[in-house]
Amino acid sequence: MIAIKQKFIPLGSPNRPGRRRQARGVLFHTTNNWKYGAGDEMHGEYMATVKDRVVSWHVTVDKDSATQHIPFDENAYHAGDGNGDYNSYWIGVEIACEAVEPGEPLDLPTYRNAVDVVAQIMMQQGFDSWEQLQPHKVVYGKDCPHHSLLYHDRFKRDVFERMGTKLLPAVVKERIYSMNGVLKRCDGDYKVKATDVRYLKLDGKRLRFKFVARTGAKVSELLIEYGADFATNAPYFWDGKVLGDAVAEGQVIAQAYGKMLTWHEFGVKGGRPQIGQLDPIVQWDVLVQGAPLLIEAGNICWDYYRIQQQVPDDIGTSRAQRTLYGIDASGDLHIAVADGRTKFDQGLTLEEAALYMQSKGMHLGAELRWRWLQCAGSEREGEPGAKSRSGGESGESRPSDLD
Ligand SMILES: [Zn+2]
Repeated sequence: MIAIKQKFIPLGSPNRPGRRRQARGVLFHTTNNWKYGAGDEMHGEYMATVKDRVVSWHVTVDKDSATQHIPFDENAYHAGDGNGDYNSYWIGVEIACEAVEPGEPLDLPTYRNAVDVVAQIMMQQGFDSWEQLQPHKVVYGKDCPHHSLLYHDRFKRDVFERMGTKLLPAVVKERIYSMNGVLKRCDGDYKVKATDVRYLKLDGKRLRFKFVARTGAKVSELLIEYGADFATNAPYFWDGKVLGDAVAEGQVIAQAYGKMLTWHEFGVKGGRPQIGQLDPIVQWDVLVQGAPLLIEAGNICWDYYRIQQQVPDDIGTSRAQRTLYGIDASGDLHIAVADGRTKFDQGLTLEEAALYMQSKGMHLGAELRWRWLQCAGSEREGEPGAKSRSGGESGESRPSDLD
């Protein structure tokens, strides 16, 4: 690993505002200064002495060295958002391009050093989510890092690989509501009556599912115990027993009776997810039940199945938190978990749930009477150093705890 030298800009310099904060992520830049000699030392000198511009960042890395100019727990002016989040809370890293001609891709020594330096900072700060490393471009669309020098996502992947982090699919948070049967989005706007939905798409060809029937256990603890990437809470219990068809690793744990006989099952066999009226006696890796079916062959059908599958009104005709499982034409699994009955989230109607599934391209989807998705990573961008494998225990007691 390349050493990061420390040569701090003097305190009191206009380019070292010195406001203490806890860093939330790393914003990477390129200097876009192609003059030979414009490396870490020169840029450090520049920031310490420049009079007519307020500009600063934390680290510069070039072809043979790296220098830290400002402590990571102090803000700097690199993002162009004034006193916005990125200047206030993010660490700025500049990658020098002195070793190449304009228009050329970054030279390999500089690229490798940059990957190495950013990985060191990420690990030292406890940043482990994809969202905690971003190109400057995300702030206002500025061409930084310069498009000719490096591919932003490729660089991020290389950094995470250097950190030894396994990359997980991202959980996307969206805020939705419907008006006259049309789905609308208002991400991050809590003045609008709407519902936060967390959405995840998984490759349907190689899923490993495990169903653990244990009452009273915390999902976050089970997640760690089984080394899982994602977990959902499935409190479909009655008198401490699992209700409806449930199979774990080929073993039948519970069987449906009464109205449950009309419900649909979600099952995984040989790594592939399925939704349908599945035979619980077949050897499934995992199988559980849900109702109503919301979408069939891409068409919305919630109201038909709401009646046919005798979904009670407190779930069927009112707003609620919901867990939705769907499969698209290529067999990929879509999971969406909606908050509900919290201060900020009104919960989804079944119609909204079905419209949302349809908007994501699901062909077949049902509501599973599961409550909460425990997911790694991306939803926790607001929490510095938050570990990816922790999270809320249940949707009931915790409002949108991440906002
Ligand atoms: Zn920049």
